[in-house]
Parts: sequence; C-alpha cells; structure tokens
Amino acid sequence: MKIILLGPPGAGKGTQAAMLMDKFSIPQISTGDMLRAAVRNQSPMGTKAKEFMDAGGLVPDEVVVGIVRERLQLDDCHNGFILDGFPRTVAQADALKEVLAELDQNLDCVVSLEVDTEALVERLTGRRSCSSCGRGFHVKYDPPAADGTCLACGGTLLQRDDDQEETIRNRMQVYHEQTAPLEDYYREQGLLQVVNGMQDMKAVQQSILTLLQGC
Ligand code: AMP
Repeated sequence: MKIILLGPPGAGKGTQAAMLMDKFSIPQISTGDMLRAAVRNQSPMGTKAKEFMDAGGLVPDEVVVGIVRERLQLDDCHNGFILDGFPRTVAQADALKEVLAELDQNLDCVVSLEVDTEALVERLTGRRSCSSCGRGFHVKYDPPAADGTCLACGGTLLQRDDDQEETIRNRMQVYHEQTAPLEDYYREQGLLQVVNGMQDMKAVQQSILTLLQGC
C-alpha cells in the first residue's frame, strides 16, 4: 500500500498514519517528524528549517523533497509507505511523481481528512506530548494526570513550539493557499478519497480502512 495522507494541521494525519503503519507493516514517513529530529540534532539543515517552522511557514521544497527522496529509497519502503505531511505543494507533488517513477512505483491512494478550521485550532492549542514516551494528550479531550504529567510513564509533557494560536492560524492559511490545491491535483488523477475527519478517531480509522479496500 502506497498512501498519502492529506489534510490540514491537526486533522489527525499522524494518529491515522500510526494506525496504518501497524495494520499494514509499512513505514510512516512524516516530514514534520523528520524536520523536528533535524532541529533537535542541530544539523545545518535543521537550523535553517527551524526558522520556517517556528513561523508556521513551509520549509523550502528542495529541502523537503531531498529528505523524502532519500527516505523512499530505503528497503523498508519497497512494500509500501504512508506519507504524512508530504507533499504540501504542487511542486512537491510533481517531484514525488518523478521520484516514484525512478523507483518504478505508483501511489495507490490519497486520503484527505476534512476537518473544520475552528475545530482544528482547538485540537492544536490543546495538544501535548510526553517528552519520555511520546504519548499524545489533549488538555480537554484526552487529559494527562492531574499534576500535568504523562499518564503512561509520568514524564513531562511538552507543547510544540508551532502549536501557539497565532502560528496555528498562519499554518492554516498556508495550508489553504499551498496545500489544499493538491486535492484537485489528485482528484484529477483519480487517486483522491475524502474522509470526514470530524468523526471520532476510531470512526475515522474505520472509514479509511473501508475505502482502502477499494484502492
Ligand atoms: P507537521 O508536523 O506535518 O505539522 O509539520 C510541522 C512543520 O514542519 C510545518 O509547519 C512546516 O514548517 C514543516 N514541514 C513539514 N512537512 C513539510 C513539507 N512537506 N513541506 C514544507 N514544510 C514542511
């Protein structure tokens, strides 16, 4: 299965990608996670990317395409992959097409998660994750322990730098201007499937699994 998960920030792409990874034993390729790792490692690329990420903008196409090109060449991608957060521009989608053609691979499906903007802002401002085990929480809908630590391991919870409201609004605008056109791009190629991302997590999961049966 070679899948792209499309959708605005906070639509649940990461959560659903993790589920698909377990279900199909294929890797989740999250450009956001890879960029955050580069920022943590203070690599030259990470340092440059951080400026764009902190502002809620997009990291330049050539940087992100380079990361994905390298990742897709690894052996664990031969049987499939889930792209989460990539592509985010038409230029990235065109580059992906070329990379896949070089690797003699085709996409099976592009799943677009649709969620309304105000729900996204609430999801993102409340989002926290454990610094030790990585478990995700939401301060209102999936709260941590009463003392604000991780329920699973007692670790300290972190909020992403770009989950502040002003940055979130900027990320939404960037999504509408630069990423949303990919829906038409993939619709024209007969690859797009739309899922209602306002349903609860399990219902979204079931909808995705059902539609993948037809891909
Ligand atoms: P995410 O975790 O997918 O929300 O990504 C966090 C941030 O990383 C984004 O707001 C962008 O600054 C950057 N980023 C992630 N993926 C891409 C991409 N495909 N193209 C450009 N920037 C990206």
